Amino acid sequence: MKDLYIDFDGVIYNSIDVSYKIAEEEDVNKDYESYLQFFKNLDWCTVLEKSEEINNAFECIRKIIDSGKFNVFILTHVVSLNEAELKVKLIKDKIKDITVIPVPKNLSKSLMVNVKEAILVDDYPENLREWKKNGGIGVRFDLDMDGKGFPVICHLDELIEMF
Ligand SMILES: [Mg+2]
Repeated sequence: MKDLYIDFDGVIYNSIDVSYKIAEEEDVNKDYESYLQFFKNLDWCTVLEKSEEINNAFECIRKIIDSGKFNVFILTHVVSLNEAELKVKLIKDKIKDITVIPVPKNLSKSLMVNVKEAILVDDYPENLREWKKNGGIGVRFDLDMDGKGFPVICHLDELIEMF
């Protein structure tokens, strides 16, 4: 069985788009420091309420687990404890038998787990590049099917055939 790590924002839920929309509505300055402050104080209850699941992600993850091919984990960057808490609750509410690993935003995902020969599905190419550099396999999730140099999927259950 291969270890399979799945990103949350932009892969399972469109929460990042929603967060940036809230930032726009609140007229947040477009520099790193202002965004960091915004994300630190962001109410994730509102974000998750306004967000939508992407392409039946949870149903796809169920299929992936039931295929018996993978150990499945959710590996998600978080800025605040409120974000970590609400994401874990939401995911575990949908899928009981899954491990959720929140990663502090300033740490690389590839630093949190044993990357070697493990698969990471992520929409952010930089995470995939780091992952690959550390001996892992990167798969980009992108609704426009733009892999940016990586194998690409737009439905999570495509992984079952891919590996
Ligand atoms: Mg993401």
